[in-house]
Amino acid sequence: MEECLFCKIVKKEIPAEIVYQDEQVVVFPDINPKKRVHFLIVPSLHIKSFLDLKDKQFEMLTKMAKVIQSLIKENNLESGYQLLFNGGVHQHVPHLHWHLLGD
Ligand code: 5GP
Ligand code: ZN
Repeated sequence: MEECLFCKIVKKEIPAEIVYQDEQVVVFPDINPKKRVHFLIVPSLHIKSFLDLKDKQFEMLTKMAKVIQSLIKENNLESGYQLLFNGGVHQHVPHLHWHLLGD
């Protein structure tokens, strides 16, 4: 079966400017930024959506949130940022991702 787009980015099978990566989390800029700063924060593990998160995966979500705190500070976004999960008809890439948008 063809792997998903963000799994391919995580595995570096398709290019993206990786802003941050550890064993659990990968961050790269959105290809079509809606704000001056627009990062996608994704788990390395393929999880389809927010609703597919299992109890033991919430620790990973906390890890993502900590990475996002650092990104906000490093990019001087303290005065204006948005965090967003899309789901259902609003989610176009079926691999969980957190949008960080900043002015
Ligand atoms: P969603 O609507 O699923 O929450 O958001 C998916 C996001 O992925 C969109 O904002 C879209 O611009 C971004 N995107 C789609 N394809 C690619 C790609 O190949 N590379 C990157 N960096 N972002 C992508
Ligand atoms: Zn995936």
